[in-house]
Amino acid sequence: MAMNKQTKPESPIVWQPRNAAEACTLKQQLGEDGVFVAGGTLLRTWWEAGTARMPGHLIDVSGISSMHKPIALAFSSDDRQICQIGAVALLSEVRNDSHISTYYSLLATAMKNIAAPSIRNLATLGGNVLSRVGDALPALLVYEAMLLWHDGQGAFEQPLAEWLLEAQANHAWKNRLLLAIILPPVDLAEQEGNSRLDVYHKVGRREVFTPSIATVAISAVVSAERHIVDVRLAVGGGQTMPRRLELTELLLKGSKLDHSLLQSCYTSVLEHFHPAGDVFASVSYRQKTAANLIVSELWKAMQLKS
Ligand SMILES: Cc1cc2nc3c(=O)[nH]c(=O)nc-3n(C[C@H](O)[C@H](O)[C@H](O)COP(=O)(O)OP(=O)(O)OC[C@H]3O[C@@H](n4cnc5c(N)ncnc54)[C@H](O)[C@@H]3O)c2cc1C
Repeated sequence: MAMNKQTKPESPIVWQPRNAAEACTLKQQLGEDGVFVAGGTLLRTWWEAGTARMPGHLIDVSGISSMHKPIALAFSSDDRQICQIGAVALLSEVRNDSHISTYYSLLATAMKNIAAPSIRNLATLGGNVLSRVGDALPALLVYEAMLLWHDGQGAFEQPLAEWLLEAQANHAWKNRLLLAIILPPVDLAEQEGNSRLDVYHKVGRREVFTPSIATVAISAVVSAERHIVDVRLAVGGGQTMPRRLELTELLLKGSKLDHSLLQSCYTSVLEHFHPAGDVFASVSYRQKTAANLIVSELWKAMQLKS
């Protein structure tokens, strides 16, 4: 491994491990004074804001070739295509990948909504996920993404939703290296009369380059008779850890899209989405924004079927 000792005394020592095992060994040796870095765009904001101290050592994982491969395709046991995105794939690479835009359009749209191109050319998908509030997360939750970790002993998979819950209570994950994000197969083929509704919205205080007030990802299948055959909803925004709205999904699934269902859906989102408020947008404002985004998309789907 190479060490690049900076000249300024306050600057961290930057390590450049050649592979995942080496990176994990370094982390074990350095403990809390060694921090993984990929694009460094988020860590930089934490240091500047004083919310995290600059560590003595940075373990730069952006050069590990096995984690760099932006998109790799594999096959599931039932012969369907799985998509594996290297943790250090740049947001701009994910955005421009044709397989992602065809099969995982919510993720491609999410990429467009993160920061400006200069940041997207440095920032990685893994870094966005591990921020725990990144705008990619609602889209990844809707696709039921898995995380591929290396803990120094070997690699293992974990559902993203499970990790998000675990990470709140337990910081042990900070010693692991994220290798890749795995997206299960999606079936775009529709039965006759059914139509897909795949929508991602990020609402901020202005149109672009702004933190999110509410971020919503919706993936649904609606029958010709306006029954909701399948639906997945995920919401986040600001410093709120994104999550699926399982109880609202349960309410919608199998039901017929009509005005009364939309009203119940609105109430359900207000009840089950618990965002963090701040000086710019209160809890109630964020809840109503998310509820309006979801209900307005379902209403549009209902109009198309009328
Ligand atoms: C001007 C600006 C605007 C931004 N706008 C947005 C926005 O609109 N939406 C949004 O979601 N984010 C935004 N961000 C935040 C940030 O750019 C993204 O979240 C980005 O994807 C983080 O990726 P990174 O590679 O730079 O992460 P880094 O800063 O390198 O790391 C982030 C965290 O992940 C850890 N980490 C990184 N990679 C790994 C790995 N492979 N294994 C283990 N740990 C790892 C690091 O230790 C650190 O804790 C913005 C940042 C800036 C500076």
